[in-house]
Amino acid sequence: MTLAPGDPGTIIVCDNHFDGRADALGGPIEILVRDGRIADLAPSVPRPPGARVIDLAGHTVTPGFIDCHVHLSMDASQLSTQLLDSAATKALVGLRLANDYLDRGFTTLRDLGSADPEWPTIDLRNAIAAGTVTGPRLIVAAHLIGSTGSHADVGSLYPPRWHLPVSEPADGPDAIRRLVRREHKYGSDWIKTTNTGGYFSPGDDPARLTWFDHEMQVLCDTAAQLGLPVAVHTGAAQGCKQAIACGARSLEHAYLIDDEAIAMAEDAGTFIVPTMQMTAEDLQSLNQGRLTSYTAAKIERDVEQIIQSQRRIAASRVKIAYGTDCGMFPFSHGNLEFQAMVKAGLNPARALRSATGTAAELLGRNDIGVLAPGALADIVAMPGDPITDIAATTKVDFVMIAGRVRRLPQSGL
Ligand SMILES: [Zn+2]
Repeated sequence: MTLAPGDPGTIIVCDNHFDGRADALGGPIEILVRDGRIADLAPSVPRPPGARVIDLAGHTVTPGFIDCHVHLSMDASQLSTQLLDSAATKALVGLRLANDYLDRGFTTLRDLGSADPEWPTIDLRNAIAAGTVTGPRLIVAAHLIGSTGSHADVGSLYPPRWHLPVSEPADGPDAIRRLVRREHKYGSDWIKTTNTGGYFSPGDDPARLTWFDHEMQVLCDTAAQLGLPVAVHTGAAQGCKQAIACGARSLEHAYLIDDEAIAMAEDAGTFIVPTMQMTAEDLQSLNQGRLTSYTAAKIERDVEQIIQSQRRIAASRVKIAYGTDCGMFPFSHGNLEFQAMVKAGLNPARALRSATGTAAELLGRNDIGVLAPGALADIVAMPGDPITDIAATTKVDFVMIAGRVRRLPQSGL
């Protein structure tokens, strides 16, 4: 993946840049990339003999984007048949999806759960990390842990064929500890859980809790003992508060969060991944009559409140990280989350930080999400200025991952 030591390196010359942390663009810059990392970054960098120069005139350069909520092994459009796919098929399909998404500028993905009894996303992560195949950097929570009758109890989607222990429900502390430890044993980087119902699972309600406090606490304590951060699919404001109080690192969706829970998240430093584009996708499906009756009923009931909650999140000081839930809708729409965030009230620089510096902070990584000397050379570029026109983020045409050029603009470079 990286250039061989001693390689003269690559110099990227661009008209503007966003460093992943700032409130504004930083103007013209040159970036010297060597051995997979950013070696130098300045208005003018030294030109080692033999170095390759890539001129990105008219472009803005940013750190590679990070999507903190995807499902590479799930296809919501085929939920009823995906059980028939083996884990190997899911990993191979996921590899293609991951590389298509990489071409749109997403160099790191956090995958938050597979509906498979095996470990296809772990295998995919390992194969990419080993260089067996190329793809974006993956950070993985293998499965979704939840109680009987929770958003994780997806067996009810597949009666009567369902006999494999996918998302095996856990009720009570002993069962929860066992599942967290199993995720750890087989290589999960994160623990994913759900403490409320969801919209696409039957027989549960996003407005109600599905864990008791002591169950959520034992999950978080077991994960903490093993050094694993916890991401919580949550809807009800009460669910957001329970997750924050128990030490979760990120709230996923936070559909029905209130001001009190947002203040708690601000104080605790809990990240929120608000998946705003998914709400737009769900509304479109609702209007086109493509939702099952139980999903449509829940979304119709809650949609106004969800939109209000997203505006509250945007108006707060909470740490917002970019996440889409792609898999539940096409990966080709994943880059629209930037525009959905700005529509909800985020300023464009904060939206860009959500997918770069803030996302890296969520993941506990100081070597990605920034343009700075020493960081991994995950670098993307787009024509135009994403601060004045956030839609420029859909026009990424240069992608470098760990110093390796993946995609160049069409302009004969
Ligand atoms: Zn999800």
